[in-house]
Amino acid sequence: MDIHRIAAQPLADYLASKSEIDEAIQRVLNSGRYILGPEVESFEREFAREVGAAHCLGVANGTDALVVALRALEIGPGDRVITVSHTAVATVAAIEILGAIPVLVDIDPTSFTIDPNRLEDTLCTPPCAKVKGVIGVHLYGNPADLVALMEITRRHGIRLIEDCAQAHGAMISGRPVGSWGDIAAFSFYPTKNLGAIGDGGAVTTNDPLLADRARQLREYGWQQRYISEIPGLNSRLDELQAAILRVKCRRLAADNHRRQTLAGIYSSELDRLHLTPPAIREGVEHVFHQYVIRSPQRDSLRTYLSGCGVPVAIHYPMPVHLQPAYRNRVEIGAGGLGESEKAAREVLSLPMHPHLTEETVRWVIQTLKAWRP
Ligand SMILES: *Cc1c(COP(=O)(O)O)cnc(C)c1O
Repeated sequence: MDIHRIAAQPLADYLASKSEIDEAIQRVLNSGRYILGPEVESFEREFAREVGAAHCLGVANGTDALVVALRALEIGPGDRVITVSHTAVATVAAIEILGAIPVLVDIDPTSFTIDPNRLEDTLCTPPCAKVKGVIGVHLYGNPADLVALMEITRRHGIRLIEDCAQAHGAMISGRPVGSWGDIAAFSFYPTKNLGAIGDGGAVTTNDPLLADRARQLREYGWQQRYISEIPGLNSRLDELQAAILRVKCRRLAADNHRRQTLAGIYSSELDRLHLTPPAIREGVEHVFHQYVIRSPQRDSLRTYLSGCGVPVAIHYPMPVHLQPAYRNRVEIGAGGLGESEKAAREVLSLPMHPHLTEETVRWVIQTLKAWRP
C-alpha cells in the first residue's frame, strides 16, 4: 500500500484541482490586490450560499473566527461560555482569548457532541447566571444536536455559536450547519473538509447587525478606513487563499459524498468486529472529517495498526480540562466529564479523506480483521 498517498491529503487535494488552482494563484498575482479584495468578496458570497447563511466574512483562521463571532455577540471578560472538553483546544482557547470563562460540559458518548441534558443541568446550577452563550462543536463532521441546542439556548435567553471547523457541508434535515445558531465559525486549515493552502477561516450569520460587527472587528474596528468605531483586531483573509478556496469549494459536496461512501464501506464491515463505528442520527448528513471508531483496547489496536503501516491518529488523546494549560482553571459542568475522559481513552481515527481509494479502505478493513486483541 502506498502509505504516503494515504496520509497526504493536502497534497492530494491540490493535485486534484492543480490547473484551476495554479490559474487562480496567477490571477491574484497579476491583480496586485492581495488582502480583502474581489476574490474574498466572491468567496464570501459563494460560501454563504453553500452553507445557507445570509452573510459570510473571511478571517485569518478558525480560532479567530470563533473570537470574532464571540466578540460580535459582545461576549467578553468575566462572561461564561459553555462548550465541550472533547474538542480541538482552539474552541476553548478562543473563549480564553476574550477573558471569558470556559465551562466544559460532557458529551453524549454516541455522537461525541455536547449532551443536551447535561447542558440543561449546567444551566440550572449556579453560577449559571453569567453564562452568555454555548459553543456547539460539530466534531468529526457530525452535527451537534442543533434542534435541542436551539430550544435550550432560546429558553434560557443565551446565544448559540456553532464551531463548524470540522463540518463544512454537514446538515440536519437538509439545513447546513453554520446557518442554525446566532453565528458560526469555520476553519480552512489545509486538512479540513474545505481547506486552504495556508490558514483561513470564516464567520457566517443570518443577522445583518452581527455580520456588520464581525466585518468591523476583523479589521481594527473600522467602519470607515482609519476610523475605529470599536476596538478590533487584525484578522483578514488574503486574496490568494480566497481564490484557492473558491476552486475547492466547488468540489466540497462531491468530496463530502466520497467521504460518506468510504465511511459506509468501513461501517458495514466494522459492525461485526466489536469495534463501535460512528452512529448517524436520523436526518443527519455526517461529513466524516474523521472516521472515528471506539474500542476499550484502543492502545493495543493502535500499536497493531501502526505496526502494519496503517496511518491512524487519536482525536483527541487528552480532554482540554486535563491538559496542563487548563487543568484546575476551567469550570466543569453538572455531572462531570466522565464520558469525555472515556472517549479520550477509546477513540481511534482511521484513514479518511476523499482521495483514498476503496482498495485502501478494504486493505485497512482486512488488517483490522486480522487483529487478535
Ligand atoms: C481546526 C479547528 C479549530 C481552529 O481552526 P484553526 O484554523 O486551526 O485556528 C477550531 N475548532 C475545531 C473543532 C477545529 O477542528
